[in-house]
This record gives sequence, structure tokens and C-alpha cells, in this order.
Amino acid sequence: MSKKFYITTPIYYVNARPHIGHTYTTIACDTVARRQRMLGADTFFLTGTDEHGQKIERAAQAAGKTPQQYADEISGEFRKLWKRMGISNDDFIRTTEERHKKRAQELFRRIRDNGYIYKGTYTGQYCVSDELYVDGAQPGDPCPSCGRITETVHEENYFFKLSAFQDKLLELYANPQFVRPETRRNEVISFVRSGLRDLSISRSTFSWGIPVPDDPKHVIYVWLDALANYITAIGYGSSHAGAQEAFKKYWPADVHMIGKEIVRFHCVYWPAFLLAAGLPLPKAIVAHGWLLFEESKMSKSRGNIVRTETILDVLGADALRYFLLREVVFGQDGSFSFDALVQRYNSDLANGLGNLASRTLTMINRYFKGEVPYPSHAAARTSSDDAISEIASKTITEFGTLFDQFQFSRALEATWGLVAAVDKYIVENEPWALGEKQDNESRARLATVLYTSAEALRIATALAHPVMPDATARIWEQMGLGDIQKFPLADLAWGQLRLGTKLGDIRPVFPRADKSAIERMQQMEDQQRGPVDEESKEAGSRHTMPATAKAPAVAVPSAAGVAVDGGKISIDDFSKVELRVGVVKVAERVPKSDKLLRLEIDIGTEVRQVVAGIAEAYAPEPLVGRKVVIVANLAPRKLRGLESNGMIVAASLEGGRPVLASFLEDVPVGARLK
Ligand SMILES: [Zn+2]
Repeated sequence: MSKKFYITTPIYYVNARPHIGHTYTTIACDTVARRQRMLGADTFFLTGTDEHGQKIERAAQAAGKTPQQYADEISGEFRKLWKRMGISNDDFIRTTEERHKKRAQELFRRIRDNGYIYKGTYTGQYCVSDELYVDGAQPGDPCPSCGRITETVHEENYFFKLSAFQDKLLELYANPQFVRPETRRNEVISFVRSGLRDLSISRSTFSWGIPVPDDPKHVIYVWLDALANYITAIGYGSSHAGAQEAFKKYWPADVHMIGKEIVRFHCVYWPAFLLAAGLPLPKAIVAHGWLLFEESKMSKSRGNIVRTETILDVLGADALRYFLLREVVFGQDGSFSFDALVQRYNSDLANGLGNLASRTLTMINRYFKGEVPYPSHAAARTSSDDAISEIASKTITEFGTLFDQFQFSRALEATWGLVAAVDKYIVENEPWALGEKQDNESRARLATVLYTSAEALRIATALAHPVMPDATARIWEQMGLGDIQKFPLADLAWGQLRLGTKLGDIRPVFPRADKSAIERMQQMEDQQRGPVDEESKEAGSRHTMPATAKAPAVAVPSAAGVAVDGGKISIDDFSKVELRVGVVKVAERVPKSDKLLRLEIDIGTEVRQVVAGIAEAYAPEPLVGRKVVIVANLAPRKLRGLESNGMIVAASLEGGRPVLASFLEDVPVGARLK
């Protein structure tokens, strides 16, 4: 019987459209799943979307949709993107599906029946953005995880006896495989050592969630709901025999792969929920770092979220997969830029693996009529041939070890070490010169050199297949080896390339990308943000205050009756403009607008709604908690049907990009600027 392997991505929260960060996690899991399938494991790869919670309810409301419509739309985008990328997930779970809701309720019931849930009252701070209870925080305190201002909640809740699991959890972390990498494990250990308080696991002040069994006034805490997906998707809590069978077969998960920002939920809450339910624990929780975005030199005015589609359009999925796994040290933060992507593509793929494939196969075509030649008798061998077979055999072992430790970058580095060694070997042995000669010795030598090169190419291709499924499948076909997905990777060894194998049609797999590739990707990202239209002119000029002299008439509203004398105004005129320090409490996109954000800004005396044309330069989430300067006495006006009371002060850079005014020192909210 074959070994089973169950791997999961986090289910993605539908508050944001898919971007390259989601793609990174999904690619990493897909690669691991593909390798396991090639190794013969009965593999189950799960991904999906997390669709409940207060944040979704609010976002839907702001977008003028029902939460279900909103979730359907964004979940659909994830499915579309994974399909386009050829992600090999075996299931896609949505937490709004009936199967999930029923089974998550079953989990709640089981934990309650086991005595780990009780009713109590929760008064404290809650971060809606992270859907996180912040113990010990005071009203107005920021969330320790994201820095946004927490909200005070006071409600009757169901509580989970998390405190009962402190020692058991610490025992689990003694196993260094359970939480990886080490830095995350230490973080979790110190969090649990500092003491665990019982956790509120229901909410009653909003309704977008799974009702608590037998008490539908409450909905299940969105994290308990979401984490349950890992078992509900494979049949936990189902009464169907097939589903029960699947659960028995695949649970516990071999790997939960997550981003480092959700470590606490996965490494503390989730194992505690499972322990409380009497269920087996996952074998490993592996956290990766964040992808950071470097500003491309090509453009001064871009946001920092890169869409995956742009890269797919220009370089294809394989290039992105290779880049992310090779360039980023898994577990640490890594940076992304179009420049680095194209550079890596050209050096490693076009000039590396792609070039090795085309020159080797072309020469076999030319000198041996497209059939893999016989690596001749001992006399035609040199130590350089043996060196290649040794490096190849070592690479097979090393790749496996590193890959299984999630050291994708080093595993690929080892494989590309083999590619580089073969390149050097070809240059030194000059098969093109041997090919010009007709004597038997030269022919025998040529056969050995090309066989050795082709065999090394085959091994590098097989190892790289899970990382670049499409390109490697094409190289495999060109080598006349059939369907690479059927190749039993566990058996991979030097010398399996059969003599006389007839090559297929040879076509370049990685055409070289020139500078225009970077420009094209840049342009596509810019176009996505749309041309400057009326809305942006209106919003940009009225609702952000240009610091340059470009638009004084806007900066100083004529409605204020300002007397202009030779372009100068008096101090009295200036003092008519009431500039105050405010703090952003709420920030969200205005539906159907690429340019506008709706902000709620606390200016000390009141909270103002301001609609600002800064959505292209600032993502809404990180603005929450940020101090800004606003023109407080501007006459209200309507934008997209929303009343805007005041305007945020920003510098207006080339192309109209706004940069918000801020202070180096800390300033109190409500302070007036004079
Ligand atoms: Zn937070």
C-alpha cells in the first residue's frame, strides 16, 4: 500500500483579491504535492477560501453586496487563477459550503461535549482585521499583530478552555518538526509560556458566520470555523461512509503550510482545538516569510501589490514558480521585482536549463539522427564523464534531502549546479568539433559526451518537474521519454536513459526575455490601475492637498473667500484653513472606483468620513492607525454618493501620485497645524 500525503494551504480570506503573496504559498504547496505524487504517495492537496467574519460582512456592506455575493466573487477569482496556473489541488473548500458548515458545527459540538466550552462574558479589545482577540489591551490600543486600532467588544460568548492546554502544547513543541522554522517555533513557545487565557469562540453582534449548534444567536469564531476546513474538507463529521473513509485515510495532515502572520492560530489554537476534540494532530506546521516588493526602476508611481496574471501573461507560470522558490529562502522574507525575475529567468532558465536542453538535443539530432547514442567502450571514457555522473547522483540525493526540509532554494541551487557542470563539460569536450570528424574514435567519444549530457539533462529535468511542471514536461517529450508525470521519481538514478531513444520535435522551452519584458509587465500593472479620469482628477485634487504650487486654487478653496494679492496670502487668510492631526480608524476601497478610499478619521473631537483619491498609492489596510493631516473646515461634498467631510493633506508627485503628510515626532490626535 502506498504512503499517503496530505498537504494544505491556508484557506485565503476573501477580503482581498488574489495577489502574488497568495500565489507564493500556493505554488510552494503545489510543488510539494507534485513531488509527493511523483514519489508515489497517495497525495491530497487542499486549498480554499475563508469566507465568514465581521470583516467580510463589513466589506460586503461597503461594496453594496450581500456577504455571499461578495464571497462568491472573490472566491471565484482564486479558483480562476489557480486553474489558469495549473495548480494541482485535489479539492477547493469554501467555508460557506453546506458540507463545511455542518461538519464545523460537529467539531464545535464535540469540543463542547468533551467539556472544553463554557458560556461567559467577554469584554475586551478585538482586531477586526485579524479577527483576533487582543488580551490585556485597553480601548484605543493598537493590535500587536497589525498595528490597527482595536475595537472594544462586550458580549456574551462561548469560551474555549485554552488555558487547559498550556502544558500539552509545550510538550508538542518539544518536537522540532512540529513547528518550522526554528524562529517560529521559539516565538510560539514563548507565547504559550507567557500563559494562555481562555479564548472566546463565538460572536453574537453580527451574523455572517456558522451558527453555534443549539444556540443560533451566536456564530462560531471565524478562526475556529476556518481552521476546521482542514478536517471538514476530507470528511470529518460526515455521516457518509466514503467521507469517513477519506478522513481516516488522510488525517492527520502531513503539512499545513502557512504564512508567518498566522502562526499563533495554527500552532496554538488549532492543536488545542484538536486535542479538545480528541483528534490526532497535524505532523508539521511550516511557516514561510513574506514577499516584499521592490519598486521597479521603470516607474516611479506604482503601488506595491503585484498581480500574478501580469507575470503569467509575459513569462508564464513556470518562470514565476522557479523564481519564487529559487530566489526566496523559504521561511524568511524575500523580495520581488520584475528586474530580478527577468534576470533570474534569463540566467537560470533561458541560458541554463533551456540552453542545455536545446544544444544537447540539437546535436543528437544532427550527429546521431535524433537517437540517443551508445556511450562507448572504456577507451572512449574520460574522468570528466565520471565526474558528471557522480555530480548527478549526488544531486539526486541532495535535492531530496533539502526539498523535504522545505529548503527549495538550496535544492534548486544544487540542481543548477549540475546544469552548470554539464555546460562546462560540453564546452571542454567540444562535441561540435568531434562531430566534424569521421574516425571511429571521435565518433565514440562524441557518443559518450552527448549521452552523458543528455542523461544529466534528464535527471535535472525530473528533479525540477514539481517546480516547473509545464516546461519540464516539454523537455521530457523532446527527449522522447513520454509523460513525465508517470515517471517514478523514487527510482531516479544515473544510467536509465535508454540507448536509441528517439527524440521528439525540438523547440526552445525558455526563449530569452529582453528588457521589454520588464517594461511590458510594468505597463500591464500601470494599465490595471487605469488612466487618469475625471474621478481621479476630482478626487485627487480636491481630496488630497498638493504640496507643490501646481494647484493653489485647490489647496486654498475659493469658497473660503481668500484675497489673493500677487499670489501671496496673509497669515489671517492662512489661519482660515483649519489643519488638524487625525488618526485613521477605518479605511476601505470605494466600490467600483480604482482611485477612491473611504476613510473614517478621528480628529479628537469627532470621527469624520473623508473620501480621498489615494487608492492607487495606498492600500487601505495599512492606513488604519496612521496619523494624517486633514483640512477640517472644508465644506462637505459628495463623491460616488459618499459624503466627504474634509480632505487629507498630501504631497502631489509626478504623475499625481500622492504622498501623505506625516510627522517625525509623535503628535496627539486633534492637534492644530499653524
Ligand atoms: Zn490586527
